[in-house]
Amino acid sequence: MNFGINLSFAVKRWPEPPVWAKLVRETLGLNLVQFTYDLLDPWSPEPLRRTIAAEVRQAAQDFGITIESAFSGLANYCYDGLLHPDPSARRVSMEWWKRALDLAAELGAEASGGPLGAMSVADAADPGRRERLYKELLDSVEELTQVAAAAGVKRFLVECTPLAREIPYTVAQAKQFMTDLRDRCHVPVRLLIDIGHALYQPLYGPNARMVNWLSGLSDQIGAFHLQNTDFQSDSHWGWPDSRGRFDVAAFAEEVREAGLEDVPTHLEIIYPFELADEKVLASITSSVIHCRQKYCGESMQKVQPV
Ligand code: MN
Ligand code: FE
Repeated sequence: MNFGINLSFAVKRWPEPPVWAKLVRETLGLNLVQFTYDLLDPWSPEPLRRTIAAEVRQAAQDFGITIESAFSGLANYCYDGLLHPDPSARRVSMEWWKRALDLAAELGAEASGGPLGAMSVADAADPGRRERLYKELLDSVEELTQVAAAAGVKRFLVECTPLAREIPYTVAQAKQFMTDLRDRCHVPVRLLIDIGHALYQPLYGPNARMVNWLSGLSDQIGAFHLQNTDFQSDSHWGWPDSRGRFDVAAFAEEVREAGLEDVPTHLEIIYPFELADEKVLASITSSVIHCRQKYCGESMQKVQPV
C-alpha cells in the first residue's frame, strides 16, 4: 500500500522543515508526505515562499521523503473559495490557487488540490444560481489545470466534502463533475476521497459504505485521506481513540479489492491547537503504527517506533 501522512499534525508545532522531516522519517518510519498549505501560506510574498519551499525540498531530500502532493488544509477550507457569491472574491480564490500550484511545483510535488469551495445558503437554494456557479466552477478547474501544466504539476486533486453546498459531495455528483470535465483539462483531475467525509452518516445515511465510493469512482480516485471517525462528524481522530469506529484493516481489504492499492493514502489527523505537544506526538506515533499494521499489513515488530 502507498501509505503516507498529511503534515496537518505538524501545523503550529513542528513547522521547521528539518524538524517535521526527521519526525516523519525517524519517529514515524514513513517516506511519503502530503504537504499542507497550512504550513506555508501560498499568499506569502514570492521571495519568502521560494526560500521556505527550497528549505522544505531540501529537508525532504535529506530525509529521503517524497512530497507526493501539496494540499489545502484548514485555513483555506474556511473560505467560500471558488463558489463565493461575489465574482471578485471567486477571482481572488483563483489567484490563491495559482499561487498554490506554483508553490506545489517549487516543493517538487507531483499533485496539488483541495476542496474547491462552498455555496452560500441563498445560492444553494436557487437552482439558476447553482447551475451558473457549477458551470463557472468547471471553467475554473479547467483554467487551473492549465496553470498546473505550465508550473509542472502533474495532477489536480479535488476533495469531495460532506456538505450539500459544496461540489462534489456525492458519488453521483463526483461522477458528473468528472464527466463534465472530460477532454477539457490540461493535466488529469482526480478525486481525493476522505473516509471521514465519505462515511458521514448524518448526510449519507447509516448505510454509507466505502465500497460505493470505490466502485463508483474507481480509477477517478487520485488519493485518500485516512482518519478515525465515529461517522457522526468529520472527526479527524487518530488511534487509539475510544470514540472512533473506523476499521482500517477492512478498508485496506476494500481498497485492494477495488484494485486501488497504489493510490496514495495519507493519514490526516487534525489536533486541537491547545492539545499538549507530547500528546500530539504520542497520538500521531500510535496512529501511524496502527495504520502501518492494519493498512499496510506490516508486522508488529517492524513498526515499533525507533
Ligand atoms: Mn481531508
Ligand atoms: Fe475532513
